[in-house]
Amino acid sequence: MYQKILNEIFNEVNRLNLQGKQADYIPELAKISPDKFAINLTELSGKNYGIGDINDKFSLQSIAKVFAFTLAYKLKGNEVFRHVGIEPSGDPFNSLIQLEQEEGMPRNPLINAGALAICDVLIDELPNPEQDLFDFIKKIAQNNTISYNPKVYQSEKKTSYRNRALINLMKSFGRIHNDTEAVLDLYFKLCSVEMTAPELSRTFLLYANHGKLPGTQEQILTSSQSKRLNAIMQTCGFYDEAGEFTFRVGLPGKSGVGGGIAAIHPGKYAVAVWSPLLNPKGNSVKGMKALELLTTKLGWSIF
Ligand code: GLU
Repeated sequence: MYQKILNEIFNEVNRLNLQGKQADYIPELAKISPDKFAINLTELSGKNYGIGDINDKFSLQSIAKVFAFTLAYKLKGNEVFRHVGIEPSGDPFNSLIQLEQEEGMPRNPLINAGALAICDVLIDELPNPEQDLFDFIKKIAQNNTISYNPKVYQSEKKTSYRNRALINLMKSFGRIHNDTEAVLDLYFKLCSVEMTAPELSRTFLLYANHGKLPGTQEQILTSSQSKRLNAIMQTCGFYDEAGEFTFRVGLPGKSGVGGGIAAIHPGKYAVAVWSPLLNPKGNSVKGMKALELLTTKLGWSIF
């Protein structure tokens, strides 16, 4: 059933001739072919269904913030919420305005300021931050080959004016403990993680499986933490379009400016979509449409 629905969605979305634009503030991302399009769904059992460019790796960008937050939440429990809030920002992902008004406390862990604060926590908590974070991502992906793209990393580093402004503002409020360069470096590597759509949907099964790894059933987050993280994705996972995504799709998920979206239906499946053409809010145009069609055709969402 899933494969037939994915095939229909792929063809329908392509016929719509939707318009968008690659993220060009990170020059390396602007080089990706605009025609790339992949949809992949993995059931909790591990059964996989995909169509399109499912063998291409793409830059996860903000989607990877979910993995950093998962590790920080696992390590620190509710203490992590002394560093980041849980409210949607209603502002663009790299906005400085709220941060100034709210004394450097990021609204949530999925906007840039929040992910920078989480990278700062990870540097405090981990003996070898980069190695330990990447080992953790490989573990939850159940895939030892996962890595970051060095060209994207360099490209982000060179053009990181906004992220530097965010971290310096937070530092001025005493909210960042470590050297800002070290925090930025970990953050750029995190954002440059790349996966194929099947690798991404398999990794997100963790959040569809109440915090347990599929297969081994190892508990990574407690079921309460997993529920709460899903709630944060639902309310904060799509920049200032979280309401629109909830309205049209009805699943928790996270998007990234590389054009990927990962979403889950707890107890059922995880799905990853990738097309680099973004709408003005930074979400993949084809990705949003494909997921809207998926929950419409299946007749199930979490609502
Ligand atoms: N690396 C990107 C940035 O820092 C992430 C943005 C995103 O995907 O939302 O601007």
